[in-house]
Amino acid sequence: MIFCGIDIGSNTSKAVLLKNNHIISTALISGISNPSASAEKVFSAVLEKRDLKRHDISCVCATGYGRYEIIIADINKSEISCHGAGAFFSNSTIRTIIDIGGQDCKIICVDERGFVDDFVMNDKCAAGTGRSLEIMAQTLGLSVSELGYIAMKSSKSLPVSNKCSIFMELDVMQHLLNGEKTAQIARGITITTARRIAQLAGKLELRNNICISGGVSKNPAVCRDIQDILKLKLTKLNHDPQLMGAIGAAIFARNKEIVS
Ligand code: ADP
Repeated sequence: MIFCGIDIGSNTSKAVLLKNNHIISTALISGISNPSASAEKVFSAVLEKRDLKRHDISCVCATGYGRYEIIIADINKSEISCHGAGAFFSNSTIRTIIDIGGQDCKIICVDERGFVDDFVMNDKCAAGTGRSLEIMAQTLGLSVSELGYIAMKSSKSLPVSNKCSIFMELDVMQHLLNGEKTAQIARGITITTARRIAQLAGKLELRNNICISGGVSKNPAVCRDIQDILKLKLTKLNHDPQLMGAIGAAIFARNKEIVS
């Protein structure tokens, strides 16, 4: 039997197929239209890669902010449960997941069976999320992937507010007007993002091993700054960290078929 997990986020749509406990296909599409159309698109993409048809899939589970609107899904599950299950599937030594996506940041703890036993989420503010990194990169005239690599080149950082994205942007613009070096501004942005995460992390007990999931895991400077500020070593996942929600959803699709 083949199971599908679909994660419709604020930024990207992700899908994975699970067969005999192995991931056999993945798809990631950037840019969201409406959740249902995005789900259709990413579902078709993940099937096409293995030349499969919809009737080959036993159960589809949806997660992410748009999960309730997805017609093709048989069931849906919260992002917290899916990120926990996905990361544990990818590396069963993981007990804490720092998930930084497009519009939120969550820290999730799982037990030795991969079940969520604690979590915290950011408040309704974009600072410390992928979206704020995108805005800051734009202000600097960079792509979001360039921002991380340029920040890695600088040991010095300029102060950037961590209060909210608007203040962050004002600080970045002021540094640009002062003719400061792009790399030092970029480092200021990644450090302030990591500090936001550290504030959130202070609200619960981080248990080893700790990993990072979500699209911001692809920003090497944010990962490095999180490790430095929180004095921890991140453990690698064995699959693309941006796919953890979709992997977890596929696991719930499989579990539903097994119990019913
Ligand atoms: P969501 O699930 O909310 O759609 P994602 O987990 O896909 O969000 O993360 C999207 C964020 O990941 C973007 O806002 C961006 O900051 C970051 N991101 C994605 N790809 C990269 C990359 N190649 N390099 C650096 N950052 C990235």
